Amino acid sequence: MEDLTRKISELSKRRGFFSQTAEAYGGVAGFQTFGPEGAELKRNIENSWRNKFSDSLGHREIEAPTIMPEAVFEASGHLETFDDMIIECPECGTSSRADHIVEDNTGIGEAEGFSTDKIEEIIRENSLKCPNCEEDLSDIPVEDFNLMFKTSIGPGSGQKGYLRPETAQGIFVEFPRFKEYMRNQLPFGITQIGKSYRNEISPRKGLVRVRELTQAELEHFIDPEEDRPPISDVEDIELKLYSREAQNKDKRGEEMTVKEAVEQDVIKSDWIAYYLGLATEWYRSIGVDMERFRFRQHQNDELSHYASDCWDAESQVDGDWIEITGFAYRGCYDLKKHDEYSEEDYTVFKEYDEPIEKKVTEADPDMGFLGPEYGNKAAQIAEKIQEKAKKSPEEFQGETVEAKLENKSFEIPTEKCNFERKTVTKTGEHIIPHVVEPSFGIDRMVYTVLAHAYDEDEVDNEKRTVLRLTEEVAPTEVAVFPLMDKDGLGEKAREIASQLRDEGFSVKYDDTGNIGKRYRRQDEVGTPYCITVDYETLEDDPETVTVRDRDSTEQERVEVSELSEFL
Ligand code: AMP
Repeated sequence: MEDLTRKISELSKRRGFFSQTAEAYGGVAGFQTFGPEGAELKRNIENSWRNKFSDSLGHREIEAPTIMPEAVFEASGHLETFDDMIIECPECGTSSRADHIVEDNTGIGEAEGFSTDKIEEIIRENSLKCPNCEEDLSDIPVEDFNLMFKTSIGPGSGQKGYLRPETAQGIFVEFPRFKEYMRNQLPFGITQIGKSYRNEISPRKGLVRVRELTQAELEHFIDPEEDRPPISDVEDIELKLYSREAQNKDKRGEEMTVKEAVEQDVIKSDWIAYYLGLATEWYRSIGVDMERFRFRQHQNDELSHYASDCWDAESQVDGDWIEITGFAYRGCYDLKKHDEYSEEDYTVFKEYDEPIEKKVTEADPDMGFLGPEYGNKAAQIAEKIQEKAKKSPEEFQGETVEAKLENKSFEIPTEKCNFERKTVTKTGEHIIPHVVEPSFGIDRMVYTVLAHAYDEDEVDNEKRTVLRLTEEVAPTEVAVFPLMDKDGLGEKAREIASQLRDEGFSVKYDDTGNIGKRYRRQDEVGTPYCITVDYETLEDDPETVTVRDRDSTEQERVEVSELSEFL
């Protein structure tokens, strides 16, 4: 295990951030339990996300179930394509991600988008080995493995269901309800924070690849012809971009503003550029180190089945790049699929500013003639004639019109077609909205924030571990200690703690061990301030306490009545 990864894992276990689930029973790979500090850190990150990407943009948050019937995933394409490539070692039986074996042992950076044939070929050409027992995997087949967890709904054989592999489908499938709720007005955004499940072949690195994960997703439904993002809100924000071109030429990434990225066509969609700008502000606010961060554009063979352009936000830990968010322009793919597969209407009626007059051509074939003449073929012939009237009106100038059916040709007298040119008034049209989707992985955000906040320094000639978490996400904002729990110091400290809680701070009270140890404990969980109540507190009028700053370790005396303002 690499250095920082190991340190984070040890600290997390010791200090209640996260640890493997059910270790008492040997543990189960890919499941992690957030302890008291971790759960609070995660909640703070989620709340900060909610504030930035939902509330302040005027989007609405929903909550859908985590289990859905098979039909949803048939329509979405997940049954067919939500696969990873698996290879099973014939010697030790270990199943591995075949693309990861390729990435870890060749110079290839991204193999996820390759075909199974190509991966087999690379494994054979390089005689790649099983990561567990070193057995040669040259002639072992690589297969697709669907990552969805299957279940059955109801007793008996029940109805087939799946645990959702992303929160997004819970939003798409209910689009007909949401468009009604939004009174058919585009654009609008629906958000959701919740659990998703992926039966990962090889879970790894604590929170980085888990089988139960939390996602925070935003689906922004837009009219691609008319709706533009408020790009001027973010145009001067500097983005760290690693474009497809830079990757292919083995160049380093580049920094440019949102405005430059759009003007120079580095980012094709101004919606994606807008969200990369907002996200940059957010990552900074929660403590992502921008020196260990980039937006990487997907290669063509890496793009998901639905996306036309996609950028991943990636953070670096121990030299490895981790995908923390995917930003995808999904076009109309999702809504179109549900529109086709279900009984509901996933379109939005777009009213024109002014009704428009439109010239149309149509036919209304005389069934009294076609029926007796062509028997059971009559309806199909009528359909062909109607189609032709719309698409090739010039063919209705002669005596007859040709209708082709299964390689047979029928000549229909034009006078029996009731062909007409007319002008109609249209008040609008039905369109399928496009979707812009930023999809954040909260577990990886927690991991990145911990790793980037981790620091070691020396205080009073002693080594110290400190998490430099921002105040926005730190599980505890302030810890209150009595110097000792006697002579009324404990009572006073508890009183101050409760007063700060009433004022909205998240506060811990600690009276165990010596003060130095208590400071270290709070440093390790990233508490920005510690307040100590000592004998001077009781003597001073007005009362004062010491406030210690986590990062500088400097202490200041502050009046109790001014504490909340000071903090
Ligand atoms: P995706 O739908 O694959 O683009 O995933 C969206 C986000 O979810 C990614 O950017 C990751 O941050 C996160 N994610 C995906 N798979 C996992 C996993 N197995 N464990 C933790 N986070 C994940």
